[in-house]
Amino acid sequence: MLSGINKSNKLDFIAKELQETEKNNNIRQLKAICPQDGVTIVKNGKSLINFSSNDYLGLSKHPSLMLASQNYTKQYGTGSTASRLVTGTYDIHEKLEQKLAKVCGKEAALLFNTGFQANTTIIPSLVDQKSLVLCDRLVHNSILQGIFLSKARWKRYQHNDLSHLERLLKKAVLQGYNRILIVTETVFSMEGDRSDVDGLIQLSQQYNTLLYLDDAHALGIMGEKGMGLTANKSGIDISLGTFGKAIGSFGAFITTSKLIRDYLINCCPGFIYTTALPPAVIGSIDAAIDLVPSLDQERTYLGGRIDYLQNQLINLGYKVCNSISPIIPVIIGDEEKALNLSQYLETNGILATAIRPPTVPKNTARIRFVLSSKHQPEQINYLISLLKQYHES
Ligand SMILES: *Cc1c(COP(=O)(O)O)cnc(C)c1O
Repeated sequence: MLSGINKSNKLDFIAKELQETEKNNNIRQLKAICPQDGVTIVKNGKSLINFSSNDYLGLSKHPSLMLASQNYTKQYGTGSTASRLVTGTYDIHEKLEQKLAKVCGKEAALLFNTGFQANTTIIPSLVDQKSLVLCDRLVHNSILQGIFLSKARWKRYQHNDLSHLERLLKKAVLQGYNRILIVTETVFSMEGDRSDVDGLIQLSQQYNTLLYLDDAHALGIMGEKGMGLTANKSGIDISLGTFGKAIGSFGAFITTSKLIRDYLINCCPGFIYTTALPPAVIGSIDAAIDLVPSLDQERTYLGGRIDYLQNQLINLGYKVCNSISPIIPVIIGDEEKALNLSQYLETNGILATAIRPPTVPKNTARIRFVLSSKHQPEQINYLISLLKQYHES
């Protein structure tokens, strides 16, 4: 053995980190479940109503998506066999991109393998050490990772506070950055509230910045024909949609200009150096995009349920966010208390996961309830009755 090298210690940092995490009540573990239908699952042999999935319209179990997946697999096989620039671009990839651009009212669209991958690879393609990124305080971790990789300077503005953003812009334009990028979400994944898309577009134009909007939680359930809060709006350089939430499948896409699309195809590593999405996935997305515009009734029902649950929670005295989306968090604060409530619900047949730091800011541990158009009124009332009991006990 080489002197000075103690082999037994090389993984100490891992054990130490895990011990520390456990001490803070923050250890995370994977828990397998088995889906039954749009809103029920089986966990440890027990049937639970799922109030935590992002399957807002229950599309992940929709027969036409499943059939399209099977048909595309029959015709094209299980894998796309290469990256997009090699032999991974099938006609189905191109057709889907054209369909997405059209239905979103944009010039062009480009598929990405996941929303996380898109955010972490597109942002560094747009900005560098000489640039500044301005983002909302509560943006998704994938946006932060993209900013870190870009090596740009970055500042956060107070959550949804566009006057704070404007103060930062006023200073920034005098500081000689080569580019300024504003990046935020349209619907915040852990709060359920929305940003002012028109206000962001206006500031971006006034201060001549790039504008990147993550529409992951709006696609399928908000905006014209359910195509998100950025659809049919000009003045957004890139908007990101993901297919793993309301679309019920997997993957992501951006809508953008032809110019930016060409640039990313040539200069974006996370697009270039990865295998194209497989046919089964493209099939289900394609079927979902055909279906989504016709689901106004489901969206209206969902909207009614959102108002109802939010109001009931307020009446019971729970601390809620300013949510106008199916994401309805109840802020508990303490991590252990949040886990206790989640456990209580599970004992009584409801799956509602506790979300803890660092996913959310310190002292804001929460239960993030998520509604689906497939939840029956009785299921929502049952949840409310349990929350009433818990609050009173
Ligand atoms: C879920 C999510 C992502 C990641 O998308 P995936 O396709 O699941 O990787 C990115 N941004 C936001 C705001 C999200 O909620």
